[in-house]
Amino acid sequence: MKQSIVYSPTLREVPSDADIKSHQLLLRAGFIRQNASGIYSFLPLGNKVLQKVANIVREEMNNAGAMEMLMPSMQAQELWEESGRWDNFGPELMRLRDRHGRGFALGATHEEVVTSIIRDELKSYKKLPITLYQVQSKFRDEKRPRFGLLRGREFLMKDAYSFHASQESLDEVYDRLFTAYSNVFTRCGLNFRAVVADSGAMGGKDTHEFMVLSDIGEDTIAFSNESSYAANIEMAPVVANYEPSDEKLEEVQKVETPNQKTIDEVIEFLNLPIEKSIKSIIFKADESFVLVLARGDHEINDIKLKNYLGAHSVELASKEEVKELMNCEIGSLGPIGVKSDLLVLADNAIKGIVNGCCGANEEGYHYINVTVNRDYDVKDFVDLRFIQEGDLSPDGKGTISFAKGIEVGHVFKLGTKYSESMNATFLDENGKSNPIIMGCYGIGVSRTLAAIVEQYNDEKGIVWPKNLAPFDVHVITVNTKNEEQVNLADDIYKTLKEIGQDVLLDDRNERVGVKFADADLFGIPVRVVVGKKAAEGIVELKTRDGQVSKEVEISNLVNEIN
Ligand code: ATP
Ligand code: MG
Ligand code: MG
Ligand code: MG
Repeated sequence: MKQSIVYSPTLREVPSDADIKSHQLLLRAGFIRQNASGIYSFLPLGNKVLQKVANIVREEMNNAGAMEMLMPSMQAQELWEESGRWDNFGPELMRLRDRHGRGFALGATHEEVVTSIIRDELKSYKKLPITLYQVQSKFRDEKRPRFGLLRGREFLMKDAYSFHASQESLDEVYDRLFTAYSNVFTRCGLNFRAVVADSGAMGGKDTHEFMVLSDIGEDTIAFSNESSYAANIEMAPVVANYEPSDEKLEEVQKVETPNQKTIDEVIEFLNLPIEKSIKSIIFKADESFVLVLARGDHEINDIKLKNYLGAHSVELASKEEVKELMNCEIGSLGPIGVKSDLLVLADNAIKGIVNGCCGANEEGYHYINVTVNRDYDVKDFVDLRFIQEGDLSPDGKGTISFAKGIEVGHVFKLGTKYSESMNATFLDENGKSNPIIMGCYGIGVSRTLAAIVEQYNDEKGIVWPKNLAPFDVHVITVNTKNEEQVNLADDIYKTLKEIGQDVLLDDRNERVGVKFADADLFGIPVRVVVGKKAAEGIVELKTRDGQVSKEVEISNLVNEIN
């Protein structure tokens, strides 16, 4: 492509409203332009890179057995009412009316649409599992759109949805897409980590976020230095400053008839600095124990807890779920025994806590999807705090460190949340009707692009990894009034294109300083400068990362570039 016809207006000054590197550089290099707060156009070079990221995502999704489709951005209000999210999604959902007064949402996500498509046509277990995805603009009226593409109000997302007849099938596809996501972010050259996450407004339980490690990230990740434990801090357990003495702990463990102890006695006994009416709290007691304290009167507890948690997607857990999350039977959680007010849990229970299960030690009183600070306010408890750097890792291995992360991807096991509310069922082998089990999987394509720029830049501009750059080679004619230079640059341009390189030729009649400054901003990995030595058949070969800078004879150029 000749640069004289490329529309990529560059800026010398750092735009005053852009506070992070990716936002500044994408604006300065002429890759994006703002329309309104959180809403951007992708100019030709920006679009080229965006499509490259999207295509990496497509390749990995296709490899994992998913099929691309395209759903509408305008979605009928009735669908969102069926799932309950017309009321629950909140102000982030953009809403509008057509000329007849009918309500619509602009797609913030597509569970409702895809579930409605499946439920109308897919009836037999024989057609399951199936995974569908799309790459499409999403709309979210973010409270604080900022950081350019990182938090937009209209942004490009790859969203995928899987449908299953069994939990095993969901687990299998979830793992496969988890691997596909790891491949995507590896191919994007990103320094990332998959972390245990909070299922938020989506519902569901098993969920991981893919976090790019970056100081400007809005999320905090707690991870162990010795194990694979890594969690969004929202999901890391709360611990108390309270440290019972060794004697107290010993006494606790010696209690043999816990049913006779009331919660008040226990609180008094431990001298806990908390309100007495609260349901269930997690304490780090010492290196190896976590105490879960539950109010003794289960019924009162239950009602209070429900009112307290009511606004969220918290559900009563089944016996099986408790078993799975806590890795033990109800009633055998700790050495103190059944129906106790105070449970002393060894570290296998931490799994359940990390996975958001809380409640009393009795069937019917455990809740899942509980997230501290979302579902109840830590400030309600004196002296409680989040996990901190240096704490023991919740899996008992190593100590916790913190890092900032940018959430670029998110995978969820939704379960039957949408299929039940929207009545999407299938007939199993015995002709019995069951709700379809679902998973959903998102990648912020435009956010990933910005995260790449955050990681790949220097003081002069963007330094694209090879596979993502808008072009492979940038050929620059130093003086477009010099015929020898123009002709040689033209030859190089043609030759490189013939061997399959995507080449940008700077044929503009501009000062060489301007050309170099623009080239630095664009960040194309390989640069061929055709200047004074053109007559001798010598050009300058440079890489944008500064590793290579040398003179090359024209006969050698193709070799050098390959
Ligand atoms: P965040 O916590 O940053 O608000 P989210 O958890 O609300 O993100 P998801 O619903 O999980 O986002 O959407 C899937 C992916 O879409 C996210 O992992 C992220 O990469 C991307 N994404 C979400 N919101 C935005 C946004 N406002 N701008 C750009 N990308 C976004
Ligand atoms: Mg969000
Ligand atoms: Mg999030
Ligand atoms: Mg998310």
